[in-house]
Amino acid sequence: MERYSRRSGRLTGIIGPMFSGKTTELFRRAKRLTLAGKEWRAFKPWIDQRYSKEDIVTHDLNTLKCTVVRRSEEVVYHLEKIGFNVAATFLDETQFFDSGIIEAIEHILRHGVDVVYAALSSTSEGRPFPFSDGKKHVGDLLALPHEDIVVLKAVCTRCGEDAVFTFYIGSEEKTGVVKVGGSESYTALCRDCYYKMFDSKRGIDKK
Ligand code: ADP
Ligand code: MG
Ligand code: ZN
Repeated sequence: MERYSRRSGRLTGIIGPMFSGKTTELFRRAKRLTLAGKEWRAFKPWIDQRYSKEDIVTHDLNTLKCTVVRRSEEVVYHLEKIGFNVAATFLDETQFFDSGIIEAIEHILRHGVDVVYAALSSTSEGRPFPFSDGKKHVGDLLALPHEDIVVLKAVCTRCGEDAVFTFYIGSEEKTGVVKVGGSESYTALCRDCYYKMFDSKRGIDKK
């Protein structure tokens, strides 16, 4: 197998609300590497089982072969097994990992492998998204030195402007930060529409 010769990997973050195309962007980058004859591995935390247990699936149903892991150290373990002999590691739904993912990412970079991660940086309340062990949040990951951070926007489902917020529209009461769901539970809104919807929802809740 080919040894990738770069001394250390590059770190790219892809952030944006739900439906902004984060997973699609991972998919696009992985496909380009495949076209270039380079190997990669993709991982996602087990909590995300919206469409598939084995693959990373976009909202428009493109799929990316991936390994589901329960703990962030397992990502490093899987790469160790292949001697870190890949060009890149893709991480989807990074906000659902435990906070150990930050150290895991640094470890992978030191072994010469690029890391491209997709993450929600904010909850549907517009607050920092905490990792699953509650110890740190995605903002701590964003604070690492990056080669690139890509901020994607969805389309506001109320007015068509660029959407930067994820808004909870599910009927069940949302307790806690983490409630995994798709378009039945969440929608993308621009800032104006988010503030309006948030305020009117709070008005309803108070009654
Ligand atoms: P993410 O990983 O950021 O949640 P995906 O890459 O899985 O997003 O999905 C992006 C796709 O979602 C778009 O290409 C489009 O087909 C679809 N989509 C559904 N609702 C919206 C929306 N409100 N804004 C943009 N794309 C949307
Ligand atoms: Mg996604
Ligand atoms: Zn709007």
